[in-house]
Amino acid sequence: MNVLMNTGPWLPVPPPGYGGIENVVATLVPALRERGVRVVLASVGSSTLEVDELVSVYDAGQFAELQKPYNQVMGIAHAHQAMVAREVRRRDDVDLVHDHLEVVGPAVLSALGGPPVLHTLHWDLRKHAAFYGAFPGSIAVNGVSESQLRLAPAALRSAALGAIHLATPLAGAAPRAERGEHLVVLGRICRLKGQHLAARVCQKLGLPLVLAGPVSGLGTAAELDAVAQDPYHPLHGHPDVRYHLEAVAPYLDGDLVRWVGTVEGRRRDELYGSARAALFPVQWDEPGGTAVVEALALGVPVVGLRRGCLAELIDHGRTGWLADTEEELAEYVLRVDEIDPEECRAEAARRFTPAVMAERYLELYEAAMRRRRAN
Ligand code: UDP
Repeated sequence: MNVLMNTGPWLPVPPPGYGGIENVVATLVPALRERGVRVVLASVGSSTLEVDELVSVYDAGQFAELQKPYNQVMGIAHAHQAMVAREVRRRDDVDLVHDHLEVVGPAVLSALGGPPVLHTLHWDLRKHAAFYGAFPGSIAVNGVSESQLRLAPAALRSAALGAIHLATPLAGAAPRAERGEHLVVLGRICRLKGQHLAARVCQKLGLPLVLAGPVSGLGTAAELDAVAQDPYHPLHGHPDVRYHLEAVAPYLDGDLVRWVGTVEGRRRDELYGSARAALFPVQWDEPGGTAVVEALALGVPVVGLRRGCLAELIDHGRTGWLADTEEELAEYVLRVDEIDPEECRAEAARRFTPAVMAERYLELYEAAMRRRRAN
């Protein structure tokens, strides 16, 4: 099977540090290739993931351009999608397009007699919902959790072939780390992820907390300061920058609660793997939660609010705790040592490996191709 895997022009695969979609693809592709799938990756020229072929229109990731005006951003996305369309037409050997970017380009291709398309829903579903409202059933989609599909607009839900949980290469493979005292929140610093709540809880309980992750792409305190002090910087006033400055920074006392910026590679795994627990005080219906399955794979108990996919990923009382309120969250934070890290690791090795994810995707590729033949 020949699959064209489209991640878009924003970041290379794998990404340097943070990068949700690109991380998912970097986890999935090696496991697909081990199963005989030929992968053509549509990304940017600086991607280093081992694939059968790489196609791109931009040499480097265009992430920083996302701060530019809407029309400019759309121009970049369209240029990339036009390249994908050209490749699919030119090659004639693509059995399926697995798209992670947006539905419209691949759907147009498919309507013109191109290969079937499976689109993986990652987060904001509004643009997809409008599309499916007008063209129900035109291409196949999958969710990254059951809850994401349950909450999706009806038109989108009816196009879905199923949900496939996210995975991590750490599952079944991560070394056991020495347990530290710190709790951790790993992820983009933004209101949706709720770092302020974790900070408030930990400060009240007197527990050390490390916040790791970028603020709208800014990975260090120096970068953030530069933006905060330059009123003409395109990120000045960005909601995530304001969230950090107004809601999170007041807790950063240099002692109990610390922000360490973006963490990458071994440093990420060491910081995360040595945590007493990972906190997910999410303020939205978290669709997939890669960082949740990474924590479990490292043997780190997870404490989160019961929203989105968290209840599917966490086994309450066995691999972590699910809370409904801030007060409950605080109570469960005090009970993290009741969770056995080995249970977490075993759960991840059973459910969240790249092999499990790849096998499920192969089933959905077949289903998408069958659906296409039937239409
Ligand atoms: N991540 C990272 N360094 C950071 C913050 C996050 O490598 O400083 C990674 C994290 O390990 C995970 C991904 O970025 O693999 C975040 O994915 P998740 O699904 O948790 O969040 P979202 O896609 O909503 O940002």
